[in-house]
Amino acid sequence: MNTTAPPSARNFAGTAAASSGLTRIEAAERLERFGLNLLPAPAASSFVLTFLRQFKSPLIYILLLAAAVSLLVSEAADAAFIGVVLLANGLIGAVQEHSASRAAAALRALEEPIATVIRDGQITQIEARFLVQGDLVLLEAGGKVPADMMLVEVNDLLCDESLLTGESMPVRKTISSPGSAIDDHSRPTASAGTLITRGRAKGLVIATGRSTGIGRIAAEIGKASVSQPPLMIRLARFSNIIAWTVGGVSLLLIAIGLMRGLAWNELFLMAVGLAVSAIPEGLPIAISVALAISMRRMAKKNVIVRRLPAVESLGSCTLIATDKTGTLTLNELTVTDIRLPDGTDLAIDASMDLDACVIRGAGIDPDIARQRAAKLLKAALLPNEGSLQEEGGRWRGVGDTVDVALLEAAHKGGLRADELSDAYPLIGRIAYEPDLKYAASLHRSGQGAHIFVKGSADVLIGMSDRMDAGHGPVSIDRDALLRQMAEMAGRGLRVLAFAEGAIDDGPEGPFGPHHLTDLVFLGICGMQDPVRPEVPQAIRDCHAAGVEVAMVTGDDPKTAAAIASEAGLIFQDDQITTGIEVQAAENAGASQLDDLTRRARIYARVAPSQKLAIVLSLARNGHFVAVTGDGVNDAPALKHAHVGVAMGRKGTDVAKESADIVVTDDNFASIVTGIREGRAAYGNIRKVILMLVATGGAEILLFMLAIPLGLPMPLLPVQLLWLNLVTNGIQDVALVAERPEGDELSRPPRRPGEPIFDRIMLRRILISTVVIGGGGFALFAWLLRQGYEVDAARNMLLLLFVMFENVQTLTSRSERRSVFSLAFFGNPLLLAAIVATQALHIAAMYVPWFRDTLEIAPISLMEWALMLLAASSILIATELDKWRLRRVIR
Ligand code: ADP
Ligand code: MG
Repeated sequence: MNTTAPPSARNFAGTAAASSGLTRIEAAERLERFGLNLLPAPAASSFVLTFLRQFKSPLIYILLLAAAVSLLVSEAADAAFIGVVLLANGLIGAVQEHSASRAAAALRALEEPIATVIRDGQITQIEARFLVQGDLVLLEAGGKVPADMMLVEVNDLLCDESLLTGESMPVRKTISSPGSAIDDHSRPTASAGTLITRGRAKGLVIATGRSTGIGRIAAEIGKASVSQPPLMIRLARFSNIIAWTVGGVSLLLIAIGLMRGLAWNELFLMAVGLAVSAIPEGLPIAISVALAISMRRMAKKNVIVRRLPAVESLGSCTLIATDKTGTLTLNELTVTDIRLPDGTDLAIDASMDLDACVIRGAGIDPDIARQRAAKLLKAALLPNEGSLQEEGGRWRGVGDTVDVALLEAAHKGGLRADELSDAYPLIGRIAYEPDLKYAASLHRSGQGAHIFVKGSADVLIGMSDRMDAGHGPVSIDRDALLRQMAEMAGRGLRVLAFAEGAIDDGPEGPFGPHHLTDLVFLGICGMQDPVRPEVPQAIRDCHAAGVEVAMVTGDDPKTAAAIASEAGLIFQDDQITTGIEVQAAENAGASQLDDLTRRARIYARVAPSQKLAIVLSLARNGHFVAVTGDGVNDAPALKHAHVGVAMGRKGTDVAKESADIVVTDDNFASIVTGIREGRAAYGNIRKVILMLVATGGAEILLFMLAIPLGLPMPLLPVQLLWLNLVTNGIQDVALVAERPEGDELSRPPRRPGEPIFDRIMLRRILISTVVIGGGGFALFAWLLRQGYEVDAARNMLLLLFVMFENVQTLTSRSERRSVFSLAFFGNPLLLAAIVATQALHIAAMYVPWFRDTLEIAPISLMEWALMLLAASSILIATELDKWRLRRVIR
């Protein structure tokens, strides 16, 4: 393999020595000179633009028309008032939308890409934005290419360049004649932003940031379409229906009014006012705010939402198909046991002080024990892709956790990577890929070549025909080895096996899997990976919340079952299945597979490529599936599951890009927290919908009673606008800041197809409409009968409606629980909003311009108290319905 860059590339890269990379000082200088490796950020829309966008709605056009009509009929004050209301409304909307989109941008910034570079001859990981020209970068399957680079070393490399070329098939990159002097043009390159789907490579950075190919077209790519959450689409459709209904009702009322001899311009303004009150125009914004608030809450709990609809869908998932390593376990692997083929057991100190560890075996001389372990550990070290570096007296590993654990064990066994690689110069390697389940390397040794393999025991047993018995190879006893492996796996240890082989006269052709035959099996080792302490509780929470948990792992069934019971998963032995059975069922047809997945909850020895089939089958069985993943091969499952959850630490860039959600601490418990927040967000959205639709419906009912029954218009158009755009506009968003009620995880998930307007919601809307609309009408009619002037009656009615809205907001805080059982100060924002609307309305009674335009006037404290009493009727009605609901559920 070629390890030096051609001279011309060296020129291009300045002084970089192609094998040891730039020095830190050089890198810092270049960073100073050429700037960060960042793409131009898509311009965020300014506050002014967001504000102007608020006026792009048919409803606003109608209002503008209304203002024009008011001007025409010389009601200049009304026109000015409409203008003020529109400004206030636009401002409220813009502030909300702006903060929601800022929250989303802040979350995107958390997804900081990392690059593995060689600097000062050391492999280190840095944030990709600090890359400079001439940096030597290591690329690995699953990673995103962080800058434009010239490849100086490739191994089985496939790149997905669809982002740049539109070509969906991955492109293979090869260096035509390794080692020969060739010019730059025939060197393969990798472009920033493309994805490595297989293999490894080393590349020299030739362009960063804006100078890269993608940098030059970034402006266009940044314009990625913003897809709307399905919930929003459904609600937009619902708003349309309401708009048409309201239009019909308004026309009807205008007709009746004309017959009654009311003035056409007043009727027109009334229709506009009604339209504005009944159409829940605040809904889309309230929902984006609800989702943004949840996103922010989730981010604080290590759950990053990449696609907004996931907030909603996470709450309705009925099954989590989870990885084992790193998600249920800590992914802190330590090799503790070694078992040699002759049955000798060796134990390695689990201590993290690598230099002070001993290897022991019962009744074996410590030196002999170490020597025997070292023979096996050689195969743990040579095909290893990780690295172990000393930093301030402590050893630090870089790379795959399995690899790092093996390196640490090798170090404890006295093996030193540099000495060993001098003794066995590398000829070629087969890098670890999850679907291979092993990694192998070929080394020069004397006249011939030597093969070392590490990987899954069952695969390696298949490659071997002899086993090491201490005094030399004997013919293999596969059953005995499988028993040894099962015993170790049964203790919950992750088992890795080792084998070696020799090619006496050197290999023919490039090193490949066909060389891995007739090997000598060296033995197995067991690694501990403790279950995360918070996982058992999280799994209990899932069970309580009606969410099933399935484990999908590439590991051995015995290890999987042991870890699963440790994690608190409840399952029977017949619920354990393997990739082989899944494959067989798949071949027999979808219904066979569905029968299997209906029951199976532990899927062991599953190839990542099988995950998708399992997820799709679980979905066919009626589950709403959240699936976790980290590797390249998990991408299809992450994309097609209802909710794809990628691991933030262990996960590859490919997995993250395919996922809806990234869990930054890789922790299963965080997913459960996400479910809780998702359910809470959905609950809050329902609360706002109820609030907005119910008050709108009540106003329609008020007019539908008053106009045909021959009463004057109960509220003036400007009063309707005031009520809906100003006072309600302040309150509705406070409702979406409601904290989770705490019982989110003690309820079954809602059915995936369940409409927002379910029976509970429809009944509540009906109750509110009747109580508020009917109550308001009764008050109005009674006041007129008592001899009140129309103006005075409207004044009281408007106050009553503001209060109805206050109380409605308060009762909407919970769908099931009584307001009195909720913490009174649990949502300070909401209390503030209620107080603010009351204060605003009372102030308007005293401020001359508002008083005259709204045609309102101050009232006595007694009247105020009476109105409050009347408004509490909605509290009583709703509390009764909540009480009924709680009884039905029980
Ligand atoms: P899990 O589902 O627990 O994450 P993996 O798919 O990561 O399991 O691993 C499957 C099997 O592949 C392991 O049991 C092990 O035998 C093998 N394996 C994992 N990592 C490596 C590695 N770095 N090198 C060689 N073999 C590995
Ligand atoms: Mg894995």
